[in-house]
Amino acid sequence: MLPASLPRIHLAQLPTPFYPLDRISEHVGGPRIWVKRDDLSGFELSGNKVRKLEFAVAEALQHKADVLITCGGIQSNHCRATALIAARLGLQCHLVFRGTEPDIKDGNTLLASLAGAQCSYYPATSWGRLKEHFLFWKAHYAAQGLSTYEIPTGASNAVGLWGYVNAASELVSDLQMHGLDACLVCCATGSGGTHAGLALGMAEFAPDVAVKGYAVCDSAAYFQEKGAEDLDAWCVKYGLSLPGNSLELDIDDRYIGRGYGIADPGVYETIGLVARLEGLLLDPVYTGKAFFGMLDGIRSGRFDRFKNVVFMHTGGAFGLFPERDALTLV
Ligand SMILES: *Cc1c(COP(=O)(O)O)cnc(C)c1O
Repeated sequence: MLPASLPRIHLAQLPTPFYPLDRISEHVGGPRIWVKRDDLSGFELSGNKVRKLEFAVAEALQHKADVLITCGGIQSNHCRATALIAARLGLQCHLVFRGTEPDIKDGNTLLASLAGAQCSYYPATSWGRLKEHFLFWKAHYAAQGLSTYEIPTGASNAVGLWGYVNAASELVSDLQMHGLDACLVCCATGSGGTHAGLALGMAEFAPDVAVKGYAVCDSAAYFQEKGAEDLDAWCVKYGLSLPGNSLELDIDDRYIGRGYGIADPGVYETIGLVARLEGLLLDPVYTGKAFFGMLDGIRSGRFDRFKNVVFMHTGGAFGLFPERDALTLV
């Protein structure tokens, strides 16, 4: 399915490990839980964004861009990964952050600054004008004779989808190697590209495998529409059609809590439980919420028809440190 001519630069350490979490499975009861360690796709470049950026940044190089511009929340893993990739490739990076400049740089923000990224901060109230902010910085660099390549939030667009189409094919090999059937794959959904890419890849390579996304911010309806837009754009850009000509995205939005980046006590408890039982680190913004939702699904018997539930671990460990106060209580 991957067009041979598709620009890609190899940045992620692939394939990522895949193994069962038997201590937590036993603790919870129900289907056997497995983990796909996309948090181990690198160190500086760890997490799900690297898979997408392999394709996005390759396109930027093809366009001979000098500056990568992207955006995200203050603790954005995507911004950190983009900043570090830019440094590695000798590009400049400009990050447009949603929120006020933190007094102390910590976690991902610290690493992005270390990598030399230029950072601008915009209050959440002006986020509706994100396009204007991008245009402003594009013009700013153009005035210096520099060309820019814009990467949307989370690299979730037609290009970025390839990252998780590719990951789906890798995961299908893992499932086959272990002889697994009746599988459900769960992931966190923040800008939608990971889930849409996985769903697209699975529909193509292993239609029996179910894929469920756990929203960490917006509603299921929002993500269904966003996914449909990205998938449409993908079809148009690459002249391809969707397997079966349509794709339903299964999104659960019951575990968002009070909003993006705000975790309920149950999420912190889940992070503590998984750390103690498996020595596995989840994060409060994405994977902690998704794992919490997944465990709730297993505990309530909603996943009884599956023999195996795979957690796609999308990373985020650097985001643990700024949450030290909440985490010392679990
Ligand atoms: C961005 C991110 C996600 C969500 O992926 P999307 O493709 O943006 O939906 C999940 N987990 C982590 C750690 C992330 O940084």
